[in-house]
Parts: sequence; C-alpha cells; structure tokens
Amino acid sequence: MKMSLAIDDATERALFERKLQESESRYRLLADNCSDMIACIDLEGRYLYVSPASYPLFGQTDCELIGRRASDFAHPEERDLLPAVIRDIVGGSGVRTLTFRRACKDGSYRWVESRAQGVRDMAGRVTQIILTARDISERRKIEEELRIAATAFEAQQGLVISAADGTILKVNKAFTEITGYAAADVVGQRASVLKSGRHNDAFFRAMWDEIGKTGTWRGEIWNRRKSGDVFPEYLIITAVRGPAGDVTHYVGAFTDITEHKAAEREIERLAFYDPLTRLPNRRLLHDRLEQALAGAARSNREGALMFIDLDNFKTINDTLGHDKGDELLCQVAERLQASVRRTDTVARLGGDEFVVMLEDLSCGRTEAAHQARAVADKILAALRKPHQIGTYEWESTPSIGISLFKQGRASVEDLLREADLAMYTAKNEGRNGVRFFDPEMQSTVLARTTLATELHDAVERGQLEVFYQPQVDRDGALTGAEALLRWHHPVRGLVPPDEFIPIAEETALILPIGQWVLEMACARLVLWADQEATRHLTLSVNVSACQFRQSDFVRQVIGTVERHGADPGKLKLELTESVLLDDINDAIAKMRDMKAHGLSISLDDFGTGYSSLAYLRSLPLSELKIDRSFVTDVHTDPQAAAIAKTIVFLGQSLGLSVIAEGVETQSQRDVLHSTGCADFQGYLFSRPLPLADFENYARHCHGISSKDG
Ligand code: C2E
Ligand code: CA
Ligand code: CA
Repeated sequence: MKMSLAIDDATERALFERKLQESESRYRLLADNCSDMIACIDLEGRYLYVSPASYPLFGQTDCELIGRRASDFAHPEERDLLPAVIRDIVGGSGVRTLTFRRACKDGSYRWVESRAQGVRDMAGRVTQIILTARDISERRKIEEELRIAATAFEAQQGLVISAADGTILKVNKAFTEITGYAAADVVGQRASVLKSGRHNDAFFRAMWDEIGKTGTWRGEIWNRRKSGDVFPEYLIITAVRGPAGDVTHYVGAFTDITEHKAAEREIERLAFYDPLTRLPNRRLLHDRLEQALAGAARSNREGALMFIDLDNFKTINDTLGHDKGDELLCQVAERLQASVRRTDTVARLGGDEFVVMLEDLSCGRTEAAHQARAVADKILAALRKPHQIGTYEWESTPSIGISLFKQGRASVEDLLREADLAMYTAKNEGRNGVRFFDPEMQSTVLARTTLATELHDAVERGQLEVFYQPQVDRDGALTGAEALLRWHHPVRGLVPPDEFIPIAEETALILPIGQWVLEMACARLVLWADQEATRHLTLSVNVSACQFRQSDFVRQVIGTVERHGADPGKLKLELTESVLLDDINDAIAKMRDMKAHGLSISLDDFGTGYSSLAYLRSLPLSELKIDRSFVTDVHTDPQAAAIAKTIVFLGQSLGLSVIAEGVETQSQRDVLHSTGCADFQGYLFSRPLPLADFENYARHCHGISSKDG
C-alpha cells in the first residue's frame, strides 16, 4: 500500500514535471514567436528573459541583456519609471502600463508602450515581472506631427484648405479674423467668395498656370472681406498631391498686408514728398528730371526747368508767423499745380523754392522757349493774385528762372543750377519777372514779348498796311494780286509778316488783324471794280488756321463781302494744308459753304504738307499754289522739277488752276511754263507793292495790253 503509494507519488511527480516542462516550452514557444516583445525581469529589474521579437528592433540579443537592469536601457528621463512600477506591483497592484523611450544599440531611442504584470508563487508573492512591449515610435511621430500641424494651422497666417475642385474644406481662426468669415460661412463654398473683382481673368489664369507647372504660386492679391472691404494680402497657394501625383487639395496661406502697404506708402511719401505741400521733393524731382532728360533725348523734344522763388517770403514769416507762411506755401503749391498740365512736375525744394518741370515742348528751341515763357506768364499771373491767409489778404510775387534742356545737354545738377541762376537774375532785375538762363533765349523771348505788346496797338494806331503782289498769266498779263501785310514799326521800321504773324497767331491777335485785312481787301475790290485797269483783278487773302477754326468764320467772311458789296468771285482765300488737317470734315463743310457763296479757295504752300490725293479730290478748291521751295530749285534740282510737274498735272486732272509763287528768274518761269503752269507770282514780275505802286503797275500793264489790243 505504502509502496504503491510511493510509486504513485513518483509517477505523479514525473507526470507533473513533464506537464510543467511541456507548459514551459509551450509558453516559451509562444513568447519567442509573439510579435510583441516579451521580457521577464526579476524584482531587482534584471532581465531574466527577452523574446527574440525585440532583437531586430533594439539591436540587442538576449546575451547582451540577460542579467542587466532593464531601467538602464530607459531614457535618462524615464529611468525611474520601471523601478516604481515594480514596487507598485510587488505592493499588490495589478497590470500597469508605462510608456518610455528605450535605448537601441546604436544609441538612438524608440518609444515603447509596455504592460507590466507580476508572476506570483503559490503563496501569492510576486516573484517575477512579465513585460510585454510594443514599438510606438511611428505612432508617436505621427501624433507629434499632427500636434505641430494643428498648432501651425492656428498660427498668425490665414489658412484655407480646399479640395481639388476649389471647395473650401477647412479654415483657421486667423482666416476668420482677417476675412470676417467664420468657418461655417465658407466651408463648402468656393474660394472665389473672396474675390475682390480687382484682378482680371488673365491674372487668375496665370496664377493657376503657375500652380499647375510648379505646384505653388505666391504674390500679392486683393481680396474682399465679409464686410465688403477690399484688402491686399500676400498669398501662397500650394498644391497637395496624392501618391499617384494627382492634386488632392490646395492650401492657401495668407497675411493681411494692408498695414504693410500703408507703411510702404508712408515711407515713400516721407522719402519723396514734401510733408507740408505734399509736392514731390528734391529727391523725386531729381529722379523725374533724369527720366525727362532721357525722354527728351529720345523724342528730340525740348523740356524746361523753372526755378520759382517767392519775393519777400521772409516778410510773411516775420510779420504773421510761420504757420501763416506755411499756409501761403500751400496755396502757392496749389496754384502752381493748377497752372501746368497734369504730366508736368511741380516740386518743392524747401523754403519758398519751387521747381516746375515741363516736358514734351516743341522740337525747336525758340518755339520751346516761347512755350515755357507762356507757362511762366501763366504762373506769374496766378501767383500775383492776392492770397487769403486767415483774415489777411496777402500779396506775393515770384521770380522765375528758366533753363531749357534737351539731348546730351547739362546734367540734372547743372540744370538746377542754371535755372537757379536765372531766377537770381530775375530777382536782381526787380523781382516779379521771368528770366532765361540762356542769354540768346532771353533776348529772343524778350523781343517777342515786347513785340506782342506793341502789335496789340498797331491796328488802332494805323501801323499796319496791306501790300499787293502782282500775279500774272503765261503772257505776263496781270490777273490779280496777293494781299500781304506789312507793319510800320515806329522804331524798327518795316517788320516783315514772318516775324509778327506767328506772334499774332499765338496771342489770338490774328483774329482782329485778319478781319482788318479782309475788310481792306473787300473795300479795295469795290474800288477796283470802278476802274478799267483793275476791274478784272482777283485779290488773294491769307487765312490763318485760328481764323478758319472759328465756328462762324464763313459767316464773318460772307458778311464782310456783302457789307462792302464786293464781288465774291474776285476774292480768293489762301488756306494752308495745316488748316485742313485739324478737322478735315469741318474744313470741307466750311469750304463748300464758301464756294456756294461764290468765293474761291487757293491751297497755299502746296507740296510742303501732308496732302493726300484722296482728300484733295473731295475738297472744293479752285487753285493750287506751288510752294516757293520747289520753285526756287525748279531749274537746277530734278526732284524739285518733278514735284512741280506733278503738282501741275494733279491740278489739271482735278480741274484746278495752278500758280507758282516765288518766281525770281526767267529760267524758273520757263521751266514751270514748260510743265504746263499758267500763272506766276514773284520778284521776277514784281515785289509786293504799296497800294499806289501796285495801281500804277496795273495801269501800266493795262496800257500795254490796250495798245496791243
Ligand atoms: P505766303 O502766303 O507764302 O506769301 C508769300 C511770301 O513770299 C510773301 O512774303 C512774299 O513777299 C514772298 N515772295 C513773293 N515773291 C517772292 C520771290 O520771288 N522771292 C522770294 N524770296 N519771296 C517772295 P511775306 O510778304 O513776307 O509774307 C510772309 C508770310 O506771311 C506769307 O507767306 C503769309 O503766310 C503771311 N502773311 C502775310 N500777310 C498775311 C495776312 O494778311 N494774313 C495772314 N494770315 N498771313 C499773312
Ligand atoms: Ca499766301
Ligand atoms: Ca505761300
């Protein structure tokens, strides 16, 4: 019984041990093949077992680990974690999880999430700890990135994420702050809700092209807030692509640059504009002047620089105070700007010094000088008017110095110096005046100004006289005359029209003068009609463009003719091509009207203008007058001869008579005659003559022809 009992005990133990072995190898097999890492540590925290799953991860095999403290492999910051967990488990707590960084063989760390559980003996005491661990480095990294992304998403910049079709999916707080749209307002809408309307389709097409090509676009763009305000933003759009390379989303990041822009403008204003008058300052003037110099060289047009300084400016500061002085300067600035074209520059250099820069004046220096002078006169007149300064009426005058600039001349600094010098001369000469830097310019302009004043009185004082230059036919018989003005200047003697007609045209004095000539001509025709020797003569009168341009010009002429009772058929009006070019339709209408009233029209200086055959045909002309320049060379220059010949041919084909002016020699007359030209005017026959001389000439011619008859 005992025996059998002993045998049974032994068998039972063997059986038990085999089962235990089986169980252990089963668990070992499980542990060895489990994809999670499993380790077993004693209560000191030393490794008893490490499953192979951890070898590739940390690079350490069990030989390197068994017997070593597990916490030695934890990151220094988490080294106390495991011993604490062991203490807790020994103290009775169940499963514990802990997350820590575990060192790898190469010195790097990986995040692991670990479960720890106690293994108990029969008596229920914890003898070992089983650790199962999982590598969570990837998850941690993604979490971290998401956390960063989420923080970044709520940054200062406005962000908007849209689907590939432009539908807004997500916006951040800054987006709401900047645009005024809450997420709920815009999610599901198209990004185009923000459009300001300030950019055209081409702008957006270029933007999307760029994104298509490079994946991003960046630049300044105007968008519209919910409030309707338009604002500038700096925007970066980035396309987000999926694994297949197709665009899945767009990310727009923007900053509101309203303040930035305002600051930019403010900086520009401070740097380039005078704070008091808001006019360009010296620096900006410098820039513009440099450009103007280059522009003048390209276009070949003159420009002018005017230096303007107020006379006695100090007085207002001293008597009324500086703020009144400032007020005067502001008013002067306004008046200066009102006196020039928008394209001209008015600048303030400081104090009471202003500069006006005129561009695109005439190509000719003298003409440009007159134009500059005209502007200077306008400025003088504008600044001379009293200024209302508070309760005071302040009178001020300027002194102006002018320097002309064109091609290759003077630098910016030289020009400013020249104009400044000229201004000082003007001041020395008694203020309230204009002075050119160039002495020659100064004297021409001065002479012209004086002449303009004197011409004004010439009509009333009877200083104007009409001379008559004979016109003859191919047989030398007198057919008519051209009325040519002369001015008997009390000091200068006889002034030729080339000197005073342009001034009369500039000052509109040509209107009363032209009318006076017309009156004289009509009166003369009436008197001639009574005399045998002059009855058949025509009289040509020159008409300036500004006369012809008057809307009631035709009525004036016809009125004059009728008032005198002159035969309109004997009156020829000489027009130049420039008159027609102004407004060809208006010119044609006026000419038709005149023709309908029996007047003749002659096209003066023909060949020098831009006459095109097309419009010549539609003009109701009676005569073409070959310009003197072709006549002068007609017998020496084949080209001039060809032109004269063409004009004659043209006239004949249009049924017009053709007269050559400026015929001085017999050979000129003969060549012209051979081309078919039938009428002549020139020194060869007679110079322009005073009336009495002309009438003698006419009687003389008549005598000859009557004798012939
Ligand atoms: P125009 O109409 O071409 O007049 C012809 C000019 O040629 C006249 O100059 C005349 O004296 C000059 N001339 C005539 N024959 C010869 C010649 O054989 N050789 C040379 N070298 N010159 C000759 P003038 O009288 O000095 O007039 C100049 C211009 O003044 C005229 O040119 C005309 O455009 C303008 N003018 C003259 N009188 C009047 C007028 O009453 N009203 C207007 N609006 N303009 C006038
Ligand atoms: Ca003429
Ligand atoms: Ca002429």
